[in-house]
Amino acid sequence: MLRSLLSSSLFRIDLRRLILILAVMSAFVTLANSFYASYRVQRQLLIDNTLEENRVYATKLASSTEQFIKSMQKQLAYSAVIAAGHFDDPAILQSETARLKYQTDSFNSVVITNARGKVLATSPDSLQLVGHVLTTPGAVEALKERRPLISKPYISAAQNLVIIISTPVFTTDGKYLGYIGGTIYLKQKSILNELLGEHFYRDGSYITVLDEDRRILYHREASCIGEVMKPHPMTEIVRTATNGSLMVEGVGGDQMLAGYAVVPSSGWEIVTLRPTNATLKPLEGLMVKVLKHLTPLAVLTLLAVWLFSRLIARPLWLLARNANEMDNPDVSVNIREIPSWYFESNQLKRALLIGISLLQKKIGKLKFEAQTDPMTGLFNRRGLAMTLESVAQLRQQFSVIALDIDHFKSINDSYGHDVGDEVIKSMAEQIRHNARETDILCRVGGEEFLVLLPRTALAEAEMIAERLRENVESLELPGIRPITISLGVAHWHYLQGDPDTSLKRADEALYKAKQDGRNRVVVSES
Ligand code: GH3
Ligand code: MG
Ligand code: MG
Repeated sequence: MLRSLLSSSLFRIDLRRLILILAVMSAFVTLANSFYASYRVQRQLLIDNTLEENRVYATKLASSTEQFIKSMQKQLAYSAVIAAGHFDDPAILQSETARLKYQTDSFNSVVITNARGKVLATSPDSLQLVGHVLTTPGAVEALKERRPLISKPYISAAQNLVIIISTPVFTTDGKYLGYIGGTIYLKQKSILNELLGEHFYRDGSYITVLDEDRRILYHREASCIGEVMKPHPMTEIVRTATNGSLMVEGVGGDQMLAGYAVVPSSGWEIVTLRPTNATLKPLEGLMVKVLKHLTPLAVLTLLAVWLFSRLIARPLWLLARNANEMDNPDVSVNIREIPSWYFESNQLKRALLIGISLLQKKIGKLKFEAQTDPMTGLFNRRGLAMTLESVAQLRQQFSVIALDIDHFKSINDSYGHDVGDEVIKSMAEQIRHNARETDILCRVGGEEFLVLLPRTALAEAEMIAERLRENVESLELPGIRPITISLGVAHWHYLQGDPDTSLKRADEALYKAKQDGRNRVVVSES
């Protein structure tokens, strides 16, 4: 089943197909390889670009935030000088807090306390805190440290999650009076939110800000703000670098491309993140483009490969097909015409031609030997049958002479078998000598011969037979008594049917010649 399937032309494994399969496979592997390589390069490029973009963006935001903090601290320092000059004038302190709050809109609230934390002025004073002593962590720290501070996040007196930027108030001779501080809301609308919030949120990108304790100061999900994150490569790297980028695992387990930068004055870390998937989204389109560029070239390559494989396989294919038809007489001519344009095919072609020529010579020799009597060199019975066939096919009329040596047995008996052979050879010589070029001469038995005379009338054949008889009769063979022959002559015309009948008639005539006394010619009149 499988064997017949393999030998059928559809599933035959031939050289052309093998070359084609090999070429197509290597073309595909090359194509797939370059496609994959280009995919890897494009992917890395997109990732690297995003990482760098995020780093630059985080650095820019860190620098804006730094500028903003510096500017806040300058404004507070300026107000601290004014407050120090009028610390016993509540109206001036109040107007200074109002100015800071409303002129710059940098703070959500502004407060001035004395050295024990009692509120002297605040803006806005919605909670009417003036006169109250503040015990919030921001206030306690500011009073204790007595230097410009940026606090950690804490819950303010008004129950907001805030940070406070504060500056101590000293008299000109260095006496500590209290502090002036501006709070910034972390969860509600604030200058910090505005500064960071104008970021792109499409495609899952976001920004987050952490303080040195990994506490979240800013996040698009307000509920996360204030929480402390677990240690993470992203939170720990700040200890060694001021800005950079890396690939991290996001909260949901998705891979994120992160850029980070540190705000020097506060130690805050600004992190910009983009999902790797969002970055790689254009990859599909890019790869389709790559494919579009690769395809025409690939098709051309395949076409060229196909043509070339045909060109390579063609001489071998033709040689193989002709080698299969060695018995065809035209095979040498056909093979000679095969365009063998490369070394191996040329060698094969030459070898095949030499082989065929040797084979045909050998066949010719065998054919000749099969049709020839070795002793006399005349045709044997097989040769006769062959010639008779072609003569009959050509519808040529012919005459036939059958002849037999008279009393040959006694020659053998008298002189020996070897001499008998010599007589047979001499007889053949005589027949040859008397025959014409076109006559066909056969030895059909021990001392029996047959001469076929194409396009010869019966009368002429009879004449030839008579002449032969006379020649043999007058032949002198050294040491042997004269020999005679008896002959029968017949004629054949294609209207008479089987040419074999004429041979039979010639034989009958020969028999009659023997009966009539030998050494004579008898003609079969039909
Ligand atoms: P006739 O034809 O006149 O009737 O007598 P014949 O003696 O010639 O006839 P027959 O056919 O009886 O004898 C033929 C002999 O030829 C018999 C055989 O020994 C001999 N003979 C046949 N072939 C060869 C051969 O190749 N060489 C030799 N030396 N003798 C052969
Ligand atoms: Mg005989
Ligand atoms: Mg005889």
